[in-house]
Amino acid sequence: MRFSTKTVHAGRKPDPYTGAISTPIYQTSTFVFDDYNEPKEHDYSRTSNPTRSALEDALAVLEGGNEGFAFSSGMSAISTTLHLLSLGDHVIASDDIYGGTHRLFAEILPRFGIEFTFLKLDDEETIINAIKPNTKLIWVETPSNPLLNVTDLEMIGRIGKEYDILTVADNTFATPYFLKPIDFGIDLVVHSTTKYLNGHSDVIGGAVITTTKKLAEDIHFLLNGLGTNAAPFDSWLVLRGLKSLPARMEHHQKNAIAVAEYLYDHPKVDDVFYPGLESHPGYDIVKKQMTGYGGIVSFNLKSDVKTFLNKMDLFFLAESLGGADSLVEHAATMSHASMAPEARLKAGITNQLIRLSIGLEDVDDLIEDLGKGID
Ligand SMILES: *Cc1c(COP(=O)(O)O)cnc(C)c1O
Repeated sequence: MRFSTKTVHAGRKPDPYTGAISTPIYQTSTFVFDDYNEPKEHDYSRTSNPTRSALEDALAVLEGGNEGFAFSSGMSAISTTLHLLSLGDHVIASDDIYGGTHRLFAEILPRFGIEFTFLKLDDEETIINAIKPNTKLIWVETPSNPLLNVTDLEMIGRIGKEYDILTVADNTFATPYFLKPIDFGIDLVVHSTTKYLNGHSDVIGGAVITTTKKLAEDIHFLLNGLGTNAAPFDSWLVLRGLKSLPARMEHHQKNAIAVAEYLYDHPKVDDVFYPGLESHPGYDIVKKQMTGYGGIVSFNLKSDVKTFLNKMDLFFLAESLGGADSLVEHAATMSHASMAPEARLKAGITNQLIRLSIGLEDVDDLIEDLGKGID
């Protein structure tokens, strides 16, 4: 099956009891045993639930992994994944990553004896030099949040195999429609399903997709042990959103290209960060590993940020991304406020940086609205 067929059909079959074409929401905590020591397929909804399983199966198929796991948020998927590590382990991570991930890595996990090195993951030698005897994991976000930097996943996968280090890619921005990290040798894919996979700004969720039986067992053991699972209704919403993923991503991207080109030519705009622009420093890598560029555009504004934000009507000032509604946010005070100011500046996140999540509106209306803000 091709990708768009999989988004409609993967993980789903008509309900055997009623024929319902929509996977039922099994809003239940527990499942009655057949007999002494004879549970049915599911016994308790933290451990597994049929609605969640349908979503998990779909996610595994779409990413090309062996199993998928659905979590209560992107951060709960990420926290659970980091529990694969133990006291004394070391992690190499990209320096411009989602603010919440940075906070977990810089401020929470070090208290439990896990060490982190934050790097620009654009040079093989620099990465290899950062590897220590206790390095157990490399964490990549590509394209990254909020600067849309891209990392060569084939290189990361190769380093991981050579040095026996687990590699993880946060694929929230690209989605499997545009990028499949597992094809490049990455071991684990994580998502905030809150964003494009659900796509309607009405759920908080996360996912992990694994590539081996051992990783699947370990992630499920941790999900169940930590209690970080997704709820049945939230799973159903993401499953529903997935059906239209290809159609939505095409539309997001078409609008985003037009917006990026408009901003690129605008005299009051400094730098535009969009993987689909030939001026993007990682354009060659984008061409090599992605089949599209996504719907997020960031840029440095020359004029006053507050005035810009107040003048627009369509772009709502809000965190998050990947929904039908276009959103604008100021990374330094919003999505990346949880990063220390020095870490932000080192990563290139200035006070003039604006991030746009381009929605599904008519692009001419979006450009007119941006024009009001900028002019
Ligand atoms: C939003 C986001 C997260 C965190 O996900 P939540 O669902 O908000 O917990 C992680 N990574 C990236 C790239 C994100 O954009």
